[in-house]
Amino acid sequence: MFFAVITLFPEMFEAITAYGISGRAIKRDIVHVHCINPRDFAEGNYKRVDERPFGGGPGMVMMAEPLAKAIHHAKQLATQAGCEHVPVVYMSPQGKTLHENEVHQLIDYDGLIVLCGRYEGVDERLIQRYIDQEWSIGDYVLSGGELPAMVLLDTLIRRLPNTMSDELSAVQDSFVDGLLDCPQYTKPDHFEGIAVPEVLKSGHHGNIEKWRFLQRYQRTLERRPELVEQATLTTLQKKWLKEFNA
Ligand code: SAM
Repeated sequence: MFFAVITLFPEMFEAITAYGISGRAIKRDIVHVHCINPRDFAEGNYKRVDERPFGGGPGMVMMAEPLAKAIHHAKQLATQAGCEHVPVVYMSPQGKTLHENEVHQLIDYDGLIVLCGRYEGVDERLIQRYIDQEWSIGDYVLSGGELPAMVLLDTLIRRLPNTMSDELSAVQDSFVDGLLDCPQYTKPDHFEGIAVPEVLKSGHHGNIEKWRFLQRYQRTLERRPELVEQATLTTLQKKWLKEFNA
């Protein structure tokens, strides 16, 4: 998948390009991440990318022109990479909140051009002309779009085929089938007086699967009851629940 990130702080992206699952996906050519600095497209000696807002008020606003040029450059890179369907997305607290369902839709694109805002945000005319989608990572405001963009890239990359050493672990993650994940345990058997549940050491795969499902179901009911109502359960899972509630 192709990513072009438009950011005033390209160095920040080392956090995902150099480490972990996303870093490995880049090394293995499954993912390509290009960071484009709008300052490289700014005019004048000072290479200004921000100006005071019309109408007054605090802070600065990112200017439309350097961003438009950066987006054109990103589109050229996408074309050169043979990518056709590459929407331009703006990370914004005013965008649609990102959920697992949307992540699954976004990985169907050949790539994304991701604009990271700074200061008070971006000139509205740039958004009107160039932005296809706006995504928020939650109802709070961060200082810039870089962390939200990294959140977006990381969650997309770990859903791509062949990016995880154990593909099954992504299938069991919270939200994938509508429920939260089950509790996890590893060695030692006892930690500060708390034992690992016996069933997990039994080697009985059927019982382990049933225990994990019931844990996931109960956990979701306690923590996120609204998710349980929307979850689609298999016939076997419904049977386990019926037995449990009997
Ligand atoms: N004045 C803007 C507002 O209230 O809508 C917030 C600007 S914020 C300080 C600067 C940039 O951070 C935004 O342009 C956006 O790119 C990014 N940002 C902040 N919070 C975000 C969030 N929850 N989700 C996605 N991007 C966010």
